[in-house]
Amino acid sequence: MDEKLEPIFAEVVRRNPGESEFHQAVEEVLGSLGPVLAKHPELARHKTIERMCEPERQILFRVPWQDDRGEVHIQRGFRVEFSSVLGPYKGGLRFHPSVGLGVVKFLGFEQVFKNALTRMPIGGGKGGADFDPKGRSDDEIMRFCQSFMTELYRHLGEHTDVPAGDIGVGGREIGYLFGHYKRITNRFESGVLTGKGTDWGGALVRTEATGYGLVFFVVEMLRARGRTLDGATCVVSGAGNVAIHAIEKVQQLGGRVVACSDSQGVVHDPEGIDVALLKQIKAVERRRLTDYAERRPSARHRSGGSIWEIPCEIALPCAAQNELHGRDATALARSGCIAVAEGANMPATPEAVRVLQEAGVAFGPGKAANAGGVATSALEMQQNASRDSWSFEHTEQRLEEIMRGIHETCAAAAEEYGAPGDYVLGANAAGFLRVARAMIAQGLV
Ligand code: NDP
Repeated sequence: MDEKLEPIFAEVVRRNPGESEFHQAVEEVLGSLGPVLAKHPELARHKTIERMCEPERQILFRVPWQDDRGEVHIQRGFRVEFSSVLGPYKGGLRFHPSVGLGVVKFLGFEQVFKNALTRMPIGGGKGGADFDPKGRSDDEIMRFCQSFMTELYRHLGEHTDVPAGDIGVGGREIGYLFGHYKRITNRFESGVLTGKGTDWGGALVRTEATGYGLVFFVVEMLRARGRTLDGATCVVSGAGNVAIHAIEKVQQLGGRVVACSDSQGVVHDPEGIDVALLKQIKAVERRRLTDYAERRPSARHRSGGSIWEIPCEIALPCAAQNELHGRDATALARSGCIAVAEGANMPATPEAVRVLQEAGVAFGPGKAANAGGVATSALEMQQNASRDSWSFEHTEQRLEEIMRGIHETCAAAAEEYGAPGDYVLGANAAGFLRVARAMIAQGLV
């Protein structure tokens, strides 16, 4: 990190004690900004970095709810509204027991730069609750979502703050959240949430967008190296929304995904993952990957070990933060991996990123590579505002163009700041510049 930035980072750590994920995300961005500030010293004078490290607003609230047996539970809800200089706060809600302020702030901080890279009119925010939806009935999920929205609704609005899904929040939860918002406010305000059902304001391709967009980004990374996806062996961690659709798009483009995982283990299927079966088990039946292995003779399940031990040319971490470590990166580089792109947010540890880059493996950071989800959310907002709905083909084409644009932006910024091919530096520099310039133009905000 540039020595001028070190005191800023030290101050972030001091002011936000115990928020290790947030520190990690800030350190990663600040690590790239030395050459940018050297070229644009006015951005430092205006304290743009210090401002970006402090959310505009942080909301914490109690979420009481009752389970099917009548027992009362108390959860904690969060919404961190990080930056609105480019548009309304935009970013998903995560329901997972690991959710705390540090996790929500890391996600919100990343979201600001990611949204800037899409070049869409969206600011950055993130939220969620330390609620574990696993094993809960539909009624319990509905009651929790209603209680959560009973507080959150007053902070939302199509021009103010527009949440979407993330881990533990999919179409079912967005439905319950939207229904309750409508009931409280007496407004059918489509643009207040994205990821809605396609019969009531949701955009086609939003469900697929993060995974599909990730693969479009990988195609560009490979093109820059004179390669294609055709015939390439891939490993994808996770078996949720992002992972399933990344696997689907890799297969449509001629690649072969031989492994995926969930929180209980890894499935290795050398003949290629059967994506229809995977969807049925994980998205419809909400069961475990052990069921996949039971129904698919070519697949083997194991509950321990790292998925990254399985040799591949392309690795797509799509599960959770800090799931790909330095030793995994070493194993990937040794097995002939040529590209790693983050479908999840911050799945690769700083050490893993360093190992991959030093080994010459192309590395696509999440804020660029997984921006397709939020970009398609912005397309959903656009359709809601004009009371229109676009075809699947048209929307997917827009998504592909956006991902190509993000790749181009990152590659050009990396080149400009003296590190050709370094997408981490490129994404951080380009995202930062767009937000910082808007911030200065809007005065002391
Ligand atoms: P889901 O809840 O749909 O899926 C998460 C998946 O990851 C589940 O299959 C879960 O397993 C698995 N998982 C969780 N922890 C681990 C672990 N330690 N090891 C292996 N697998 C694990 O979430 P999403 O697919 O929506 O999100 C995944 C990632 O992508 C997150 O980092 C999210 O922030 C990011 N992202 C999501 C976007 C979106 O549009 N949804 C947009 C941009 C980024 P199990 O089934 O057992 O719970």
